[in-house]
Amino acid sequence: AKSQGRNTYQFYTEGMQDREVMRLELDKDLSQALANNEFVLFYQPQLDLATGEINSVEALIRWQHPRRGMLAPIEFIPLAEESGRITEIGRWVVLAACRQLAQWRGTPCEQLRVAVNLSGRELDDESLIDHIREALVSENIDPGKLEVELTEEIFIQNIEHNLSQLSRLRELGIQLAIDDFGVGYSSLGYLRDFPVDLLKIDRSFITNVTERHDDAVITRAVINLAHNLGIQVVAEGVETEDQLNFLKAHRCNLAQGYLISRPIPPADLAKALTEGTLF
Ligand code: C2E
Ligand code: CA
Ligand code: CA
Ligand code: CA
Repeated sequence: AKSQGRNTYQFYTEGMQDREVMRLELDKDLSQALANNEFVLFYQPQLDLATGEINSVEALIRWQHPRRGMLAPIEFIPLAEESGRITEIGRWVVLAACRQLAQWRGTPCEQLRVAVNLSGRELDDESLIDHIREALVSENIDPGKLEVELTEEIFIQNIEHNLSQLSRLRELGIQLAIDDFGVGYSSLGYLRDFPVDLLKIDRSFITNVTERHDDAVITRAVINLAHNLGIQVVAEGVETEDQLNFLKAHRCNLAQGYLISRPIPPADLAKALTEGTLF
């Protein structure tokens, strides 16, 4: 999008100029955000469909911007990827997740595993794995408690490097999940060449899974494919009881979505788990 913007200066409207100014401003703010401790992790629970228990959560970053309020990742992660700041942000995310796991020891959140999102750009960083190892050691976290979510883009470019990074993550004992499964335009070969632990079926298949035959067929096929390969399946974006029942009937392992809970701050999560009010 950036290079496109550069080639179309002659078409710049005032609105686009405003956006460019805002982008530059945001990029400058981003350089201060870590030092000012402005990032937070929200956690979205995943419901185990076989037991009805919540044993895992996905960590989703938010930026508490001093003037603009709470910003969603779409508003700053792409920018951070362009500028390269994503590397430091990713390190912060991993450390924050490990600290959270440490804080949960001896509380009703003790059983939770945490999944963090890493982009392909973050995987480029050679010292990423060392940072993850150090975070696990410094917070005394069992690596099995940490899961990494990666999208299929990592199997399209820079494949050899990425596969070696994945091997190193696995050697640490970290669980690997493929995020947004089914929309990534990559081959299925990586499921053979590189055993992953979980597949997350993209929300776009779940949204109409009870209305559209095609989506139902694809969702069932993905669940069967995964199970036959010994991989667990998470459904993203579950918003209705009907979707949940469909997923249960077809033996999907985990469900995540607004029906169960939105991503929430850790204090709210602890309260909901303590009071048993989550779902
Ligand atoms: P994602 O990994 O696919 O995360 C799921 C997104 O769907 C989250 O948006 C979540 O709030 C939203 N969601 C969950 N359940 C539902 C539902 O039932 N309905 C609908 N409509 N949406 C639902 P969010 O938090 O805005 O995150 C957007 C994306 O930003 C994530 O997509 C992920 O790709 C990226 N992201 C989030 N946190 C991080 C991070 O720490 N590092 C990196 N690199 N990327 C992150
Ligand atoms: Ca994710
Ligand atoms: Ca996803
Ligand atoms: Ca998705």
